[in-house]
This record gives sequence, C-alpha cells and structure tokens, in this order.
Amino acid sequence: MPSNTGTICENSGLYRSSCEHVMRISILENEIFPPCLACNSATTWSLAQMTSPISDEIPQEPRPHKGTQHDKFGNEYEPPIEEG
Ligand SMILES: [Zn+2]
Repeated sequence: MPSNTGTICENSGLYRSSCEHVMRISILENEIFPPCLACNSATTWSLAQMTSPISDEIPQEPRPHKGTQHDKFGNEYEPPIEEG
C-alpha cells in the first residue's frame, strides 16, 4: 500500500517514490517517510521489496539478476513488483 511523505511506516522494506526520480529508500517500521531525496518534495512511497526479519534464511549465494532491466538511458531498474 502506498504511503505518503510524513506518514509512519508500517512495514519495513525498500520503497520507491512516485515522482520522476523514482528514488529508492530502505525504511524501517515506525520511521517516518521522508520527502523525495532528490527533489525534496512530498511524494508517495510504494513498497518495492519487503525487508525480511533477520533469520537463518539469509541467502549465502549471489542471486541472479533475473529481474533487472535497463531503461532507454542505460540505467538499471527493477520492473514493478505485482502486489497481491
Ligand atoms: Zn523527486
């Protein structure tokens, strides 16, 4: 569920801003969503990836970058994750 700047994070994870900068931040539960780090404007943060609690399931091997793509500028990005 998207969260606006100034609201409290309910689920730790990696979030992506909805503005043109598509900033990605790591935020923890009960932290407050910041403005976009690039344009300093209020934005909407969408959960990009859940942060797993520390457990014994941390993968030891590097994972293949199966989801990484390149945009027309040659920058890497991850395609949107379907939720639900
Ligand atoms: Zn921005």
